[in-house]
Amino acid sequence: MKVVLNPGHSPSEPGLSGPNGVTERAVVEAVGRYLSNALGRRMINTEIMQQPPGDAAAALDLLAARIADEPFDVDILMSLHCAQADDPAAYGIRCLHLPGSQESRLLAECLLRHFPRTPWCGVVEADNPLLRAAHCAAVVVEMDHLSNPEVASLMTVESWQRKVAENLVEGVFAYIGPQDIRILVNGAEIYADPAPQAVYNDVMVPIKVLGTALGAQVRWDPRRRVVSIDTRQAASEEMP
Ligand SMILES: [Zn+2]
Repeated sequence: MKVVLNPGHSPSEPGLSGPNGVTERAVVEAVGRYLSNALGRRMINTEIMQQPPGDAAAALDLLAARIADEPFDVDILMSLHCAQADDPAAYGIRCLHLPGSQESRLLAECLLRHFPRTPWCGVVEADNPLLRAAHCAAVVVEMDHLSNPEVASLMTVESWQRKVAENLVEGVFAYIGPQDIRILVNGAEIYADPAPQAVYNDVMVPIKVLGTALGAQVRWDPRRRVVSIDTRQAASEEMP
């Protein structure tokens, strides 16, 4: 499972600008960082792909060429942007995908699942060079309306940025489904009950399962709250 994240625009081409002066680039850069960290904590391999500097159209074409060159191990492409509307009261997230791409449409719907519904939010069909270049489910996420003065000031707040990132992570998991973690000992799969779980940067595996698979005796003393692992007894048993 691999996700490619493109925080839209670049320092030389910062995109939209809010009534408070905040740029689209500043918002997508911050959310992109939180999103990549949050996906990493859930064991999702994530690559941040930046738009090259310079003129917007040429830079987008260069970025699209890089995306088209990606090996076919990428499952999801998300390009992060902000939305704008003539109505200054407009708020809510929008998710854009290529017309006719069922996988991308499904991803877009999953990503919206954890955000409040508003009259301005939704899944929208759109053409875009990055979406055309991708070999996988690909969406442009316009995470909210920078044209709304209230929303624009929220977008600079760290807790808002983190919340958007967390909601998007939940959307990614809604799309990919539960990810089983498998344990292989010398290439042979062993089964654990309860199943292994990703917790922050670690994978938690029941010690009894792992110890036994490695030839150790594992005992749990609930009164002393001690787990003891003994490899000596197992070794002496092997002696003639
Ligand atoms: Zn943009």
